[in-house]
Order: sequence, then C-alpha cells, then structure tokens
Amino acid sequence: MQWVEKLASLDFRMICEPYRFCYLCSKHFCARCCPAAPPSRRRDHGNHPTFIIEVVQHEGLLIVRLEDVNHFYDCSRVEPEMAFPGWVRLHPKPEEQDAGGGGGGEPCGFRECNRRIAQDYDFCSIHCQFEEIGRDPVMPPTRQAVLDSRAQKYRVKGLLTLEHSNGTPIVSLGHGWDKFCLLCHAGFSSQVCHHHDNHSTIEIIDTPEFGLVARFIQTLHGEWLTSLSTVQSSREERALDDGYGWFYTEVIVEVPLMMQSHPVSELRPNSCRCGSGIDKDMVYCSVQCMVRLSWKILLHAKTVQLLIYLCLLTCDAGSTFPKNAGGGLVSELPKPNRGS
Ligand SMILES: [Zn+2]
Ligand SMILES: [Zn+2]
Ligand SMILES: [Zn+2]
Ligand SMILES: [Zn+2]
Ligand SMILES: [Zn+2]
Ligand SMILES: [Zn+2]
Repeated sequence: MQWVEKLASLDFRMICEPYRFCYLCSKHFCARCCPAAPPSRRRDHGNHPTFIIEVVQHEGLLIVRLEDVNHFYDCSRVEPEMAFPGWVRLHPKPEEQDAGGGGGGEPCGFRECNRRIAQDYDFCSIHCQFEEIGRDPVMPPTRQAVLDSRAQKYRVKGLLTLEHSNGTPIVSLGHGWDKFCLLCHAGFSSQVCHHHDNHSTIEIIDTPEFGLVARFIQTLHGEWLTSLSTVQSSREERALDDGYGWFYTEVIVEVPLMMQSHPVSELRPNSCRCGSGIDKDMVYCSVQCMVRLSWKILLHAKTVQLLIYLCLLTCDAGSTFPKNAGGGLVSELPKPNRGS
C-alpha cells in the first residue's frame, strides 16, 4: 500500500520549471520528472551531478549561468541577460523584443544576427557565438585538441537543441505531471520522461466533478484497484483504440485523489469522515482521505494497545516488578500489529 500513500502525497498541480542540462550526456531533462537519484529503480544522470547545469526561462528566453557553461564552453564574450547578472541567453531575443534595435550598442558578432548588444561583449547569445565561430573553423594543432573540440561541439549543440528531429520539444517549459507509475511510485510528464514506457502507469486527469482523478483500466490495473475498494469511484465503459485501428471496450475507473466537498444527498447518501457526501457502501471520498484517516485510526489503535499494556504492567507490578526492575522492558513491548 506504499504506492497509495505516495500517490496521495504527490502534487500533480505543480508545474515543472526550471529544468536541467547534463553536458556529459548532452541532454536536456527535467529534474523533477527524472530526478538524479530517486529512491526508486530509476536513475537519470545519477552519477553526473557535477555535469548538470540549470536552465531557467526568463520572459520566454532560456538562460544559463555563465559560470556553469564556462566549464565546457567559454562564453565570457556573450552578453549577460540584463535582469539576471551572471546568466547568458541560449538563443537571440525575438526581433520584436530587441528594444535597442537601431539605437545604441554594437551589433552582435554573428553575421546573420542584427541584435544590438552592450559594448563590452561580442555576441548576444551562445547560439550566435557558436554559429559564427563554426563558420571559420580553425584546425586545432594536435590530435587531442581535435577530439576535445569535437566533444565540445557536441555538447554545445546539445545545449542549443531543444527539439527532437521530429519537432517535439525535449523538455517543454511549464509541463506538469500527467501520469503516475505504479511500479516506481513516481509522478512524471509522459511528454518529457520515457523511463516508464514499459511500466504499469495510470493517467492523472483534472475533472470538473472530482478535481484530480487517477484513471485506471479495470483489466490492466485490477490488482491495484483492490487496494482502493473503499474509495468511491466512477466507472464507465469506453471504446478504446488499440493503436492498430481496432476498438475494444474497457471499464475505466476514475478515483478522486483530493478530499471532496460534496454535500450529503440522495445521490451521495454516505458520509466520508471528512464530511463529504459519498456513494452508497463507500467509506472514503478520495485517496487522500483514505491515507490520512486510516493512518489516524491505526495510530489510535496503537495508543489503545499501549495503554492496555501499561495498565497490565502496573496491575502486575506488585508481584513481579521488583525482580525485573531495570531489565528488558523495552524488548518486552509488543510488536506493532501490521495485520491490516
Ligand atoms: Zn517535469
Ligand atoms: Zn524520466
Ligand atoms: Zn547525464
Ligand atoms: Zn546574436
Ligand atoms: Zn516506472
Ligand atoms: Zn473525505
């Protein structure tokens, strides 16, 4: 039932931003969807922490810390972003944003860019420096230098590439979690993370009636659904496409994640312990209530157990306590009952 607790604890409304770039792998990735060392079997760039740099969005532009990029590519000649001293732009500003256009400042050193920049710099962005220097390549003097420059090129190219060749973004800004992996007990964006492609996953959907719900498919997730049998849910038969043009019907079960606030009514005659009206024969309005309230009951049961034990101990004290004084009390405490 660990996964139920995890599912209830995750914030599926949070937006993933900023994100990271690993220059050992030359790859953009989302550190929230693909954490470096999660307590699960997934590991993305887990051994590369010193090669990871932060990418932030500022007014629609991506910026990186100069100090970070300088580790593998000297960008000291790139103009920093005004509002973020010490940070440089990956790409040029869109023309309409370029307030200085025509006015003061020097032109960007890239022959195809006409942005104006402050005098102390040569390029408006990493992109422009990389492109301009790539136009007139200087042959490195040694074989090692050739290899180094090749590796550097590969990294900078990776940093500047934000889309796959088919046009889908590698990390789309402002994405959120739309799935939960039942195997890894993790939330993630299906657009940005593909670590769970062969795992059992469920969709998390925002609905008008229940807010966030976890969407299960009866035949695929029956085993997991039994853990949630006391939580109200909506069931619907739906025709699904198998991806090859064939349709089949499936029972879709949607379980609310967050505490509900429906009045008790004819439609919802039972009451969850939070007070929300719920379906007949049900106990909890949501996964959240099930986790929170069953935890409280468990705690309560343990307190009662302890009180009874202490009571027995004091009643018994007259006859046996003096002999045992100081010994073995802790080890004699009853083991918590993990039966249910
Ligand atoms: Zn993410
Ligand atoms: Zn991932
Ligand atoms: Zn990496
Ligand atoms: Zn430029
Ligand atoms: Zn997984
Ligand atoms: Zn409730």
